[in-house]
Amino acid sequence: MELSTTENEVHDANALNWARRVLDDCSSPRLMQQEVLNAVTRNETWRGQQCLNLLAPEAPTSPIVRRLLSSEVGIRAAEGHIGRQQRWFVGTKYIDEIESLCVELLKRVFRTNYADHRLVASMIGNMTVYTALTQPGDNIMTISQPFGGHSSNRHDGPAGVRGLRIYDVPMDPVELEVDMVQFAELARKIKPKLTTLGASMTLFPFPIKEMADVVSEWGGRIYFDGAHQLGLIGGGQFQDPLSEGACVMTGSAGKTFSGPQSGIIVWNDPDLNKPLTDAIFPTLAATHQVNRVAALAAAAAEFLAFGKDYMAQIVANAQTLGHALHRRGMTVLCAHKGFTRTHQVIVDVRSLGGGYTVANRLAEANIITNKNLIPGDEPENWDFPGGLRLGSTEVTRLGMKETEMEFIADLIASVLINKESTETVRSRVTDLRASFQTLQYCFVE
Ligand SMILES: *Cc1c(COP(=O)(O)O)cnc(C)c1O
Repeated sequence: MELSTTENEVHDANALNWARRVLDDCSSPRLMQQEVLNAVTRNETWRGQQCLNLLAPEAPTSPIVRRLLSSEVGIRAAEGHIGRQQRWFVGTKYIDEIESLCVELLKRVFRTNYADHRLVASMIGNMTVYTALTQPGDNIMTISQPFGGHSSNRHDGPAGVRGLRIYDVPMDPVELEVDMVQFAELARKIKPKLTTLGASMTLFPFPIKEMADVVSEWGGRIYFDGAHQLGLIGGGQFQDPLSEGACVMTGSAGKTFSGPQSGIIVWNDPDLNKPLTDAIFPTLAATHQVNRVAALAAAAAEFLAFGKDYMAQIVANAQTLGHALHRRGMTVLCAHKGFTRTHQVIVDVRSLGGGYTVANRLAEANIITNKNLIPGDEPENWDFPGGLRLGSTEVTRLGMKETEMEFIADLIASVLINKESTETVRSRVTDLRASFQTLQYCFVE
């Protein structure tokens, strides 16, 4: 059968052509499978052993968490709520144990009355909240992309799919915080049913209490999308949105929380229990990957033991990295206020060729970051934005501390400021990584 590139393919045509050629050259499906394994190994060697991974949404999971992801329970079906009667299928008595342990561990980590373990992604968490707490046509306020807002809360994500009218939370472009005066004025006009805080580019806490006071005038609510900050919140290194007035919080289990990539949702109000869990099952989750639930439970237990120290070091490392890049002549956002209170550092790289060029050049030196929209960019600048985002989660879990952050800043400056060849810098990066191969802040099997 002759296969050709289909019209309107969204993927890079060269990438798919490469795969077709590779598969064409295989004399059997067995060899095709081997090509998959080879690509995984290539990635593991490069990203897993030789790179400085500074991607803010990534975190390395512990060996026990990784082992559980391939456990037998991952082939079992367990739709429904926990319990014999609550399930559609029988044979779930041990699955009920795993899931109950997960739920109760999550409640302990986040100090909440309720938690759910069935979100296969934090995106599904956003959809859960919009399904449960809004109706099509409702007004909501969320943060726009150039200020770090995520598509899940915008027109092109779950909020848009729900048919909501989306208005921007006014942000101060210098402080990178909510402009409370403008917010109060605009919100009193729009009367949003839900106001979503939390962002993908996130440096400082939000005035949740003040905002909750405003929206409570018309019975509005605050929803905290803590995708990025979830671990920092659990570890007590960031504001605690639920105790400050947010009614529900979602987050990515695989970002700072450092569990298996998926979602977590927590809340305290018993009246939200039914709407939120109805939205999860049967609306948005069916088979919800019990191997992932087991891994999540194991990650939560690790978090209880190590989360506080781990998260504190993540923030300390990000602050040191911000200072160090600033001292080496880079335009790091919010230098006037200590650069960051999270795992992230944001650099304005417009004068260095923009985020796309800079991130790709650093990747040639095995330094993995991402291009990012920053204030001044339009949402349409998505492909070629002015910023670069760095995150300290992975290097911290590998045991790096302030000294290494200075060294990383040297490596980045070598590429971007001193214009050293990426080959030279790459070998220095690989040398540094070679002595940091063991994960910290986890139990040893
Ligand atoms: C990453 C992110 C999400 C989506 O999380 P996934 O776990 O990747 O589904 C949602 N909201 C924000 C603010 C994010 O940064």
